[in-house]
Amino acid sequence: MSALSPHEIPGPQMARVRAALCGAVQGVGFRPFVYRLASELELNGWVLNSSAGLVVEVEGPEAALEQFLSRLDCEKPPAAVVLTREVSWLAPAGFTRFEILASDAGAEKTAAVLPDLATCGDCLGELLDPADRRYLYPFTNCTNCGPRYTIILDIPYDRPRTTMREFEMCAACRREYADPRDRRFHAQPNACPACGPRLEATLREAAEALAAGRILALKGIGGFQLLADARDAEAVQRLRERKHREEKPFAMMMPSLDEARRYCAISDAEAAAMASPAAPIVLVRPSGAPGLAPNVAKHSPYLGVMLPYSPLHHLLMREFPHPVIATSGNLSDEPIAISNQEARTRLGAVADVFLTHDRPIARPADDSVVGISRGRESVLRRARGYAPLPVRVGRELPAVLAVGGHLKNTVAIGVGRQVIVSQHIGDLDTLEARGAFERAIDDLCRLYEFKPELIACDLHPDYASTVWARRSGLPVVAVQHHQAHVASCAAENDVSGPYLGFGWDGTGFGSDGTIWGGEVFLVDGARFERVAHLRTFRLPGGEAAIREGWRSAASLLWTLGIEMDARARRVAPLLDKGLNAPLTSSVGRLFDAASALAGLAQESRFEGQAAMLLEREIGSLETGESYTLAGGDWEPLIRALLHDVRRGAPAQLVAARFHNALAGWIVEEALRSGLRQVVLSGGVFQNRYLTERAAALLEARGFAVYTHQRIPPNDGGIALGQAVLAASAR
Ligand SMILES: [Zn+2]
Ligand SMILES: [Zn+2]
Ligand SMILES: [Zn+2]
Repeated sequence: MSALSPHEIPGPQMARVRAALCGAVQGVGFRPFVYRLASELELNGWVLNSSAGLVVEVEGPEAALEQFLSRLDCEKPPAAVVLTREVSWLAPAGFTRFEILASDAGAEKTAAVLPDLATCGDCLGELLDPADRRYLYPFTNCTNCGPRYTIILDIPYDRPRTTMREFEMCAACRREYADPRDRRFHAQPNACPACGPRLEATLREAAEALAAGRILALKGIGGFQLLADARDAEAVQRLRERKHREEKPFAMMMPSLDEARRYCAISDAEAAAMASPAAPIVLVRPSGAPGLAPNVAKHSPYLGVMLPYSPLHHLLMREFPHPVIATSGNLSDEPIAISNQEARTRLGAVADVFLTHDRPIARPADDSVVGISRGRESVLRRARGYAPLPVRVGRELPAVLAVGGHLKNTVAIGVGRQVIVSQHIGDLDTLEARGAFERAIDDLCRLYEFKPELIACDLHPDYASTVWARRSGLPVVAVQHHQAHVASCAAENDVSGPYLGFGWDGTGFGSDGTIWGGEVFLVDGARFERVAHLRTFRLPGGEAAIREGWRSAASLLWTLGIEMDARARRVAPLLDKGLNAPLTSSVGRLFDAASALAGLAQESRFEGQAAMLLEREIGSLETGESYTLAGGDWEPLIRALLHDVRRGAPAQLVAARFHNALAGWIVEEALRSGLRQVVLSGGVFQNRYLTERAAALLEARGFAVYTHQRIPPNDGGIALGQAVLAASAR
């Protein structure tokens, strides 16, 4: 299919929806039901049985699609159990009828492995019902909820192949398990106080420790979490010091949606994401109400908030009904600890108190992070509740293993027309992380009985993932970092035909030996043409410039011959000689420079801090005022920004003008390309202001704009792009 030409662009109310349903949805009359429903609403598309359950695509007027989604839920066949539902909104594909398609190849292999699901309403009711035999039992679950991915040891998914094999069901539990009319029919983690896992400390002790300002290590679903009273600045500070996490924002767990609304402005879509079976951390705007410690998330425009998602969390929040910090049980950016032993060793110096239990965790799964962008969920860290749901791609893939990047690493495997992207692993800087990376690869291969024939890695020769790939002995395809970003977004959105792809990021290895990060590609199938990029500048000190944004600022001033302060002059010799000062086209580094010149951040204590501060500065300001970044040349932008700063313009306005200039350049390149489809990917597009502004401007001019939904725009998503591009390079 080719790109849409302008006169073919459908009206704004037309769309296509893809819904992937997991659970007991096969062999229960689901496909005929979908067929009837689509026909009744006069929607075209298709439905098929897939790996994880069932996939349906329908297109038509948006209102009819909304109706379709709601009736899909309310009127489903009585025997069907929908555990999770992933909905993506796509551009229309031009379907002319509705049909039932043949099942995907490789379907049964991936069918059994489902993500972990938050406690359902029925189980919560039983948990708090004094008359129920599971009253206050912290490991209550049923077929609609509970752990899955984090307890599976092997497939097929049944109890002896889960970490629940150590617990023999009592007669009452066995009866439920065997009764097709029971909510616990074949619920593999089924358990009760008589036969199931037990806590190794009391909830009361844990709650008292929190109230006393102490730090609690809690064994959750996908690993240990560190908890502290989010109202207690000293407790939060202690946690920061012990965890070596100086300034990076902490996420919180709030006892209820009502309590969360006291501190945050939460939209309907944000509330729905929080209360979904995936129960991720949702990035929401603070309301400004007092009560939270100021050092929870000082530099972010958002607060990361989640709701209790396991019975253990519900019970703890009942004992301690206040906001708590809930952060991964690790040091800094290491992987999350999952075993009791490991937690005692690694977190012994961080936590004051441990709340553990005897249900083993098979593999780590951090809390996922999502934001609502362009009215839809956008996953920024993909782990518990989402992994390992497969992404369906346009064509059959060879047996490819993609090993991802270096930061926020994930790995992925191609099985038929599915790509399974692992849970978030972490930055590969430490031995622990590299161990977790290797375990994740072994784990995926074993779980899906997968034998890779081809490995996809980054072009950067020194990434730990690349080094591992080169040593594997298998054929290796190195994929350029920003092309992988763009391809991941196109694959996720099922974009067909030529498109303009923006790969904007921190720093990544470019095909010409310079450091890329502000790339514009004309993409046709697997062919990438780099049609534009940010004007290059030097990074004095190389890697050091990533943490110290003032170095990028100094470089721009040096290039323009503008007077520099004493510190900036220190790096002038590097720039004069071009020594340890590689060229870059990184938009991420331009953000750092702007943040430094605007007086907001001279350095970043965590990745993206300078850019985050610049975005936060805009606040609720709405303005179309903009600097100019025509052709990607930052000279007029920097000169105007400096002029603004010198005349004392509000930082809010400076920040908005800077963001708007980037959006303006995107529109300029899109118009120049003559294409009608635009793909935005890379870490820079975690910036909600920039993404929404660019998308709005483009859509107003009739472009179809694709941004990430289920796969992170940052490096957590590039394994998908690597898999797809390596497959087509063959
Ligand atoms: Zn349940
Ligand atoms: Zn039992
Ligand atoms: Zn990247």
